[in-house]
Amino acid sequence: HNFSRGPGKGGVRFHPDTNLDEVKALSMWMTWKCAIVNIPFGGAKGGVVCSPDDLSRRELEDLTRRYTTEICPLIGPEKDIPAPDVGTNGQVMAWIMDTYSMHVGHTAPAVVTGKPVSIGGSEGRVEATGRGVAIVAAAAAKALGFSLNGGSMAIQGFGNVGSAAAAIFHKNGVRVLAVSDARGAVYNQHGLNIQALTNHVHGARTVVGFPDSEPMNASDLLELPVDVLVPAATQSVISSHNASKVKAKMIVEGANGPTTPYADDILRSNGVVLIPDVLANAGGVTVSYFEWVQDLQSLFWSEAQVNHRLERVMSQAFENVWDTSQRLGVDLRTAAYVVGVSRVAEATQVRGVYA
Ligand code: NAD
Repeated sequence: HNFSRGPGKGGVRFHPDTNLDEVKALSMWMTWKCAIVNIPFGGAKGGVVCSPDDLSRRELEDLTRRYTTEICPLIGPEKDIPAPDVGTNGQVMAWIMDTYSMHVGHTAPAVVTGKPVSIGGSEGRVEATGRGVAIVAAAAAKALGFSLNGGSMAIQGFGNVGSAAAAIFHKNGVRVLAVSDARGAVYNQHGLNIQALTNHVHGARTVVGFPDSEPMNASDLLELPVDVLVPAATQSVISSHNASKVKAKMIVEGANGPTTPYADDILRSNGVVLIPDVLANAGGVTVSYFEWVQDLQSLFWSEAQVNHRLERVMSQAFENVWDTSQRLGVDLRTAAYVVGVSRVAEATQVRGVYA
């Protein structure tokens, strides 16, 4: 979408319903997201229309290697650096890295991020998005004059983002009252034991049936009277149909696009503070940036170093967005776009046009 601040960055999606328009929109999102957290990347994305769950491992590898060969002229550590997205994972990134390396004739770990640690992946990448959600939620609560410690929360989605966020919030003294996944939701009025819930999910592959909880209607989770609601599953779950019933003080968008524009208006007029996706879930791309930096230097950081740097980047990004919203008197989503678009515009202007 845009390369004015650095090489393209974004995930590769393997999904039966993906299409060119979706990929274009997602790549634009990456441009703003990278600019909002001020990392030197532009926006990019990729997609293959396929059903990865229906493919054998061999078929998935063949598909990935052929796709990589087709996009080889476009990607590279200085050009465009893919990452995992829906339907792709660390193994797919390893095949992309290997295929690209075979084409250029040397091992090039910095061509993709989200790789296994054994081939140049970063410590802390798996939890990075959830950790970023927790960092901005704490910063936002502080700015609003309350502490998350002892506060209550509901989390929709218990995958990569939701489960990592839940574990960090729980450790920080937040009572996670309800959690859902695609199969249902569970509730405990005193707060769920997230470690025990994680162990349950490892075996049962769902939060449903967790012993120390009561079952809950998954859509009711969004309407619980909690301090913070974290949608961390899928898009458009808070819409004009349910936005007026949201009772949380604050929404932190772990997922991409969980709130529709109509819902945004309703939430704003009801005084619900919303931390937008382009800021709230940017922890993942931030640690992807750290992975790329480590690969280029062939010098690897400890998990504590990664987390410390992530904290610095996310806190600074929150402060920039918060200050912009206060200065201009606009909501945080608008403020985040003001920060992101201004940085891209400045880079474009200062570079000028090579006619
Ligand atoms: P994931 O596939 O690991 O987990 C998704 C979770 O949501 C699962 O628990 C699934 O059961 C649940 N879910 C699906 N539909 C649901 C529904 N209707 N109601 C309740 N739960 C439902 O995915 P993820 O990596 O955690 O990503 C979640 C969201 O965060 C997506 O919007 C993704 O684009 C966004 N995101 C992820 C990252 C990352 O680093 N993984 C980074 C930025 C943004």
